[in-house]
Amino acid sequence: MLKKILSNKKCAECRLCCVFDRYDVWETPVFTEETKNLLLEKRPDTQFITKEGGYLFRVNELVENELFYCPALDNKTGCILGDDKPFDCRIWPYRIMKIGDKRAITIAPICDELFNRPISELVKFLKDELAEKIFEYADTHPEIVKEYDDMYPVLMFER
Ligand code: SF4
Repeated sequence: MLKKILSNKKCAECRLCCVFDRYDVWETPVFTEETKNLLLEKRPDTQFITKEGGYLFRVNELVENELFYCPALDNKTGCILGDDKPFDCRIWPYRIMKIGDKRAITIAPICDELFNRPISELVKFLKDELAEKIFEYADTHPEIVKEYDDMYPVLMFER
């Protein structure tokens, strides 16, 4: 979904969004029933908890610099779910968050590649390509809407 603004090559070189520490473990992707089952076929040991109709990884408490690697991440080939990866991953580093009684699209600061682009470019891409799709998906999958984190600059409020 981000191919026009973010190349597969850049993502393949980084993969930071597939590894979590104790500060951003809340950012693990939300799975639907279908994507959860797909991953369980490939990685049967993966454990999930439910979240408002969706599924999150069950992650034991992380201490100090301990990391949690997404079970779908393959060191050589990247995400084993390919185009079937969760919606959260397909729009990352864009995020949808709740601010008061409104939803807003924000950007995750740890994605160096997009975070350092001009805000005008990030917002234009949202207006032209992505914002409507994100809000529509969130209408039917409210579990992807995260609580606002003020480290994430707001790019757009819903109308
Ligand atoms: S599902 Fe795939 S893209 Fe999403 S965090 Fe896991 S490895 Fe990365």
